[in-house]
Amino acid sequence: MADKKVERNSLNVDTTTDYQHHIIKERYDKQADDIIAVMKTFMGYPVNENSGLSSFYKWYADSGLLDYSMNNAGDPFGPSHLHIDTLELEKEIITHFGKFFDFPEDNLWGLMGTGGTDGNHHGIYFGKKILLAKTGKWPVAYVSKEAHYSNRRLADLQGMRVKLIECDKMGRMDPKALDKALEPEYPVLIVYALGTTFKGAIDDIQILDKVIADKGIKDVYRHVDAALFGGYLPFTNLKHLISQKKLHYDSIAFSGHKFFGIDEPCGVFLCTKDTYDAQKADKIPYLEASMPMISCSRNALTPMKLYWLLQTRGWYAYAREIMVCLENAKFLYNELCKMQWPAWLGYASNTVFFKKPSDELIHKYTLATEYDERLGGDLAHIIVMQHVKQPLLEQFVEELQKEIDAGK
Ligand SMILES: *Cc1c(COP(=O)(O)O)cnc(C)c1O
Repeated sequence: MADKKVERNSLNVDTTTDYQHHIIKERYDKQADDIIAVMKTFMGYPVNENSGLSSFYKWYADSGLLDYSMNNAGDPFGPSHLHIDTLELEKEIITHFGKFFDFPEDNLWGLMGTGGTDGNHHGIYFGKKILLAKTGKWPVAYVSKEAHYSNRRLADLQGMRVKLIECDKMGRMDPKALDKALEPEYPVLIVYALGTTFKGAIDDIQILDKVIADKGIKDVYRHVDAALFGGYLPFTNLKHLISQKKLHYDSIAFSGHKFFGIDEPCGVFLCTKDTYDAQKADKIPYLEASMPMISCSRNALTPMKLYWLLQTRGWYAYAREIMVCLENAKFLYNELCKMQWPAWLGYASNTVFFKKPSDELIHKYTLATEYDERLGGDLAHIIVMQHVKQPLLEQFVEELQKEIDAGK
């Protein structure tokens, strides 16, 4: 190992001076302190701040790899061409999740990208290409009003007409509103939300599919946006909510930095191999492969990290973690109910939303806010991730009670 270090240092000559290092270190130290201070009470966004990657970083530094740039350009299910990639690990990750999501073993493809948005991008793009090729007509994209904004933006970016469908109070796409909005003369590209961003709502895929089928529409592509919930549902006894075998969706996307807490944005996209095969992507000679993926260079480190986590911690650990998160979400919800502070918690969700407290509390706990007239107006939410434990929730509830008592 020592020899390896000498060798790599002779290649990488560092030309910065001690003085420059000193200046930047001071600034970075301050930034680190500031960020870590915020983390202690950070509850409004779906990021696991307990990912446990330090063992990976120790290995990474010792291995010598950290002085080099890797790149996952290429198809994880095809051959490696650059040989400085982690495509093999990436493929194993896709295969693992394929099993968790009940994809047929021989009908699966996927990749890791830059986040949930990137997965949605691929799902919407693949769906559009298939429907357009099959029918010669541009599909209309249907997405709920409470689904993540990336879906409507991506459908718009890809030149589709987008119809935003009303939701019920809990944030689920309303079947009646979908029925009214459907245009049977065009193919349907529908995005289902499996855990909406603000209310953590799960669209009822089977009922909504039936609405589409009852209209006699045959050309349908179903993409599932499961940015946060896709990370945990497979590890619970609520797995049926995400089972491909049961729900027959064509593709699904989730984020790696949300439930798994990978320390840089990344995501996993899975689709049926039928979807992949139908892309008929251009052959790219220098990669000797079909390249249906949108980005060329892709991160080689994030598959390493996710694979490390899945192997070193194991999915049993994740199953336990999500049980605790869901219990803690119920705890928070019950506490708020006891105080008669209007609060809601959806099925299988770790997101508690409630009447907005003071701006001070919003700021202190970095809470996200939203407005819904049907629920009395201004709302805030807490997403109970792994680092959001009961003492922190109790502290929040006590502070809220003090505000109520003070008549704020
Ligand atoms: C966070 C989120 C996204 C966006 O995912 P990124 O990984 O941030 O790109 C998409 N959909 C839902 C439901 C989300 O919660």
